[in-house]
Amino acid sequence: MNWVRRVLHPILSRHLGASLAGCLFLLLILCPAISEALPAAQTHPLPPRLAQWHDRANRGDYFERVEKTTPGYLVWSEFPVKVYVDGGREEARSQVWDDAVRQAVDEWSAYLPLQTVTQAQQADIAIVRAAPPLKFPPTQRVRSAETRFELYTKGSPAILYHRCSIFIQPSQADIYLVAAARHELGHALGIWGHSPVETDALYFSQVRDPLPISERDVNTLKRVYQQPTRLGWKVSKK
Ligand SMILES: [Zn+2]
Repeated sequence: MNWVRRVLHPILSRHLGASLAGCLFLLLILCPAISEALPAAQTHPLPPRLAQWHDRANRGDYFERVEKTTPGYLVWSEFPVKVYVDGGREEARSQVWDDAVRQAVDEWSAYLPLQTVTQAQQADIAIVRAAPPLKFPPTQRVRSAETRFELYTKGSPAILYHRCSIFIQPSQADIYLVAAARHELGHALGIWGHSPVETDALYFSQVRDPLPISERDVNTLKRVYQQPTRLGWKVSKK
């Protein structure tokens, strides 16, 4: 058991939920004793597809709504980001759910390199066909989708990484499945917050007619990837 798991696990099990109308995403509680051992926050090179992205119409962003977590902005630094799609037991598979999730992965691939993998152990992001697990004590209400992240270290010298789990409940209409997958994947790729504008994929609530990823979503993602983070950098021992 490495130090992150040993020290952070008790904290991770006391998730602080940010409850909003559309979905729930989980934050870590800042602990000053741990921050000292975390790497200093630095910026990574901007991924090429985001570097090339320019919104000529200048539609703006909602970067100010993106939360800075304990490890900093949730920026991926090694590409492609590996995505595992877990449709559940063979006999219970749903082609509709699977297609919706893969469509969302394809859509975000236009902006960051993503690769679907067949082994869960290889995944940076696991998308699971299940209702979000209940927490104790229970939060306000059961959600249909949720994204969580955890930290771990790998290598010698140890580098700090994160991995995400996305839970998407199967019992939703097709159009909402795609919207939920698109929205949650946006969180997992680094947009750890919600837009106040209904036409954005990361709008805080479910909408009647979901739209594709907006220019504002991509503008926000690009700004996230221009920020410093402790992820992807060497851990300094206390
Ligand atoms: Zn959300």
